[in-house]
Amino acid sequence: MTAKNWRALLKGKHQLSLRLFLILNAFSASFSMISPAANTQHITVPIIMILVISVSCLGWQFLNKKQLINIPAVSLTIGLLWAAHIYLKVTGMPHNDLSFLIIALLAILFIGSISFINNIQAFIASCLPVTLMVFWLDQGANWPRLFYSIALPGFGITIQHIIHKRHDNFTRRLMDKLLEEKETLNDLSMLDPLTGLYNRRGFQNRLDTILSIGSGQHYVLLLDIDHFKAYNDNYGHSMGDQALTHVSAAIRDAVRSRDIVTRYGGEEFMVLLTDIDAERALQTAERIRKRVYDLEIPHLFNEDVATNVTISIGLAPLEQQDIEEALRQADGALYRAKRQGRNSILVSDSLLAG
Ligand code: GH3
Ligand code: MG
Ligand code: MG
Repeated sequence: MTAKNWRALLKGKHQLSLRLFLILNAFSASFSMISPAANTQHITVPIIMILVISVSCLGWQFLNKKQLINIPAVSLTIGLLWAAHIYLKVTGMPHNDLSFLIIALLAILFIGSISFINNIQAFIASCLPVTLMVFWLDQGANWPRLFYSIALPGFGITIQHIIHKRHDNFTRRLMDKLLEEKETLNDLSMLDPLTGLYNRRGFQNRLDTILSIGSGQHYVLLLDIDHFKAYNDNYGHSMGDQALTHVSAAIRDAVRSRDIVTRYGGEEFMVLLTDIDAERALQTAERIRKRVYDLEIPHLFNEDVATNVTISIGLAPLEQQDIEEALRQADGALYRAKRQGRNSILVSDSLLAG
């Protein structure tokens, strides 16, 4: 996803460079026709074609913003047309004009390097035909001066290209890092910091995935620690937090990894048992109840009821993907379990009826 975004960004940047290239070529072609560099035939077929291609590509880019133009093909075509234009002009001259060749070469190198600073391929495609043509027309007579004319911009664009590449790499690394952090934050926002269990948001996220896959019967457990207010009052809030952490771990250990354990409220938990039958769901609830009891966290609030921290559980089936209804049913069962004396499991009316 990231790499794709990055490539799209880079493509957009290249298309923007192409626009500059086309504008400069259209100007340059028009200027060569109006005010030619040497006094020979100045309106040639290639120069007209350069103008037509540049203007049409610009229009096409303007009208079809989503469609990308093939940059190497366009830059090579225009490069070849400039080479042809220079050839036609020079062959029409009475004698070899070095200054014309150098001006033509520099103009092409200028347009190429200013437009394609971040696209070395396109730079070469647009400049190579003219460079070769100029050297060929000169027949080696002035090669040091011509060489100097291309060495300077050539060196410049290479250095600039390296700087741009580094800059791009830096931006890319920064973007990757930010996306990574975003993902971590996203994960963290799905978890409860005290227990490490899912919070409601995390639960909803997992539930959506499970329901979208669909298949199998699921059951909902609502669990609530018994007399926890008294526990806090007796042992203090931080001991209460510790007890919560231990109970959470016991619940998590008592279920399968594909079940979703959520801290639903202060000392309330919800477990979604996925793809399971009623009997196994009830067995799992009993296993959780026993694991919590076996933690033997002392709770000397009411010796008649229990001397350990215990939980009560309400169990209900998840039907027609209606999580609200399942929770309402489980809550009813939990309420009755509390009334019956706590440390127990009751199933919902909907399950009893079914
Ligand atoms: P019951 O058996 O009916 O559930 O009684 P209870 O005392 O557990 O029920 P109640 O809902 O009245 O009290 C819940 C208590 O849980 C209140 C609050 O002090 C405690 N509690 C909720 N969240 C936290 C928490 O994050 N840390 C601690 N230490 N205590 C919490
Ligand atoms: Mg409660
Ligand atoms: Mg409670």
